[in-house]
Formats: sequence, C-alpha cells, structure tokens
Amino acid sequence: MLRILFSVMLIGSLLWGTGCRTTARRAAPIVVPPVAAPSPLQVTPVVPVPPVPHPAPGTNQTVALPGPRLAPLVAVPVYYPLAQWVCVTNWVRTNGLGRTVALTHNGIRAVQIVSPMGNLLLAAGSRVVRHEGVEVALGCAPQWHQGYLHVHPVDASRTLRPLLQPPAEILHTNRLLVLDPGHGGSNPGTRSCLNSRLEKEFTLDWAMRARPLLEANGWQVVLTRTNDSDLSLTGRVAVADFQQADLFVSLHFNAVAQPEPSGVETYCLTPAGLASTITRKYEDNASLMLPGNRFDPQNLHYAAKLHRSLVRQTGAVDRGIKRARFMDVLVTQQRPALLLEGGYLSNPSEARRIGDPAYRQKLAEALVRALP
Ligand SMILES: [Zn+2]
Repeated sequence: MLRILFSVMLIGSLLWGTGCRTTARRAAPIVVPPVAAPSPLQVTPVVPVPPVPHPAPGTNQTVALPGPRLAPLVAVPVYYPLAQWVCVTNWVRTNGLGRTVALTHNGIRAVQIVSPMGNLLLAAGSRVVRHEGVEVALGCAPQWHQGYLHVHPVDASRTLRPLLQPPAEILHTNRLLVLDPGHGGSNPGTRSCLNSRLEKEFTLDWAMRARPLLEANGWQVVLTRTNDSDLSLTGRVAVADFQQADLFVSLHFNAVAQPEPSGVETYCLTPAGLASTITRKYEDNASLMLPGNRFDPQNLHYAAKLHRSLVRQTGAVDRGIKRARFMDVLVTQQRPALLLEGGYLSNPSEARRIGDPAYRQKLAEALVRALP
C-alpha cells in the first residue's frame, strides 16, 4: 500500500502544475517561501499584497469587490523548528482522536491513525496522507524526531484535525449553495482532445444537472451563470456574497499537453503558514492570512466529502485534495469554498467519458451524495 502511495506521490509531484489555466489572472513574481527553514534567519519577510489583484485588461469588471467586509491581512509565522512540531502519537491521544499504530512496509516506517472518522496513514518524507480512500496534501512532509513521527503544527490543526474531527462550525444556516460553472462566454477553458468540445460547456451542464438534485435535498442552489456568458472571477465571488451563500463550489475540467494524465482533483485555499501544493508560477506567500483562511477547517471538511464522493461515484483516478493560493475564486471567500476538477479533457478515454451525458450525471450525483 505504501509503495502505491509513494508511486502516486511521485507521479503526482511530476504532474502537479497541470490544469486549466484560467482559474487565476494574477501576474505576480515567483516567490515560494521556505516553510521549514533550517535557520530563523531564513524566515520569509512579510510582504503584504492585496488578496485580489486588478483583473487583467479586457475582463469583466462590472461587479465591485466586497472590500469592506473582508478581514484584514495578518502575518503569521511560517518557520517552526522541529522541536515545535506536533508528535502525532501524543496529539491523537491527548485530543481523544483515536489511537495510532506503527507500521513498516517495504522498509518505510509509517503511522496509521485509527479513528471513528476513518483511518489516516502518514509517512515520513511524504507530503501526501491517505484518509478513507483518498489522498490529501500536507504543507510539509512529516519527520521523525526523538523516535516519534512529527507533523507541522498547521498541518495538524488545518488538515489532520478536520479529517479526524468534523469542525464544529459547519455553516449550514440557510443551506444556500452557490455552484460556479467555470469559464463561459469568451473564456472557453480547456477543450476535449476528441472533438474540441469546450470545458465551459461541460461545467455548465454539470451544474445544471446537479441543481435539481440538490434542491430536492433541501439546498437552495444559485448558479453564477446559467448560459454561455462571461463572468469575472471576482464577479463569481460577488454572487456568493450577494446571496450570502453558505458554501461555494467551482466546477472545472483539466487538460495538459500529455494524453496520459487522468482523474479528479479538488482544491481548497492553502492555510496560512504552509506552502501550497501547487503554485503554477504564481506568488505563494505562506505568511499571509487571507480572508478565506477563516474557513480552513470547513474548507477541508467539505473538500474531503466532495472529493471522496467524486472518486467513489465515477471510479476515476484519485489525484487528491490539494492546496493553492492563486485561485481567486477561493481567496476572498466569506464562506467555505472549494474547486473541483472533474477529469482530464486531454486524456482520450476520460474525454470520451466526460462527453457522455450519463457520466456527467454521475458527476452531478456525486455532489448530491456528498451534500445530503
Ligand atoms: Zn477550468
């Protein structure tokens, strides 16, 4: 199992950086701060940047940013010496999260957390953990320290805990969901390698199929677009602000230059203090507390539910739950928010499945099963 885990991790590390290119319009210098620097002298300086940049020329700018309601940016510590990392065994026991089991497989020592919320496997050197059948990215790879496996404190509080203990503040008051079909209008997104059908068409179809199913479950569902219209990234967030949505889910499909990659993946905002899984050459300042970071536990809670449902419902390759700061539809949210990539239009067999309405119905049903 660990061999599979690390093979997938290696492949994943090679392939991360793929995907549709239109989820962000930020043009910032490449700055990837060290997360666990060997010396306090290497702590990344705090460089305040606005959470949402000015849209690129020519994009829809008709909707104003909800600036006054945003939380101020707060700098947070990035560097923690290993002595301040969290001992997994003690942390699980003292927080009543379950118990830990030491494993050795193919010479790799690992720890499995056995909990009422499922089993979670961690291994030193791996930024990927496996929880209940799906992969979840950490900010830092766990390390052995004084004979025990340790994790970065923010990984413990913002990734492991929401998986092992559902966050208390699930914002369900009105069950109002904003579904965001990615792209639209002059922004087509990616295209099928088989027949040039466009991502914007498939994301809208996915959302339109999901809406009645979710409404039957008692959700109020608002779509950011219901036709082939242009909508800026900030405009999509503004729809959720105007509706005072409880949850925001953006729908996309992937594509890369190679035909081999396939599978589903899910993104949520990187917690402050950690490096992102994927940066796509955009700035990744780990010291910034962004508005969406107020919902870190809920972001991951919903990401795990939806991602697991997508994997189970479609049988697609699990490409994991990943963290990013460059996706503008996640950065300024005032509610839990995540972004789903429903498959690779550049992979011939997956493009064929995505082109099949029955498969897109499965994608829609996956949302409903995750949001009962
Ligand atoms: Zn997209």
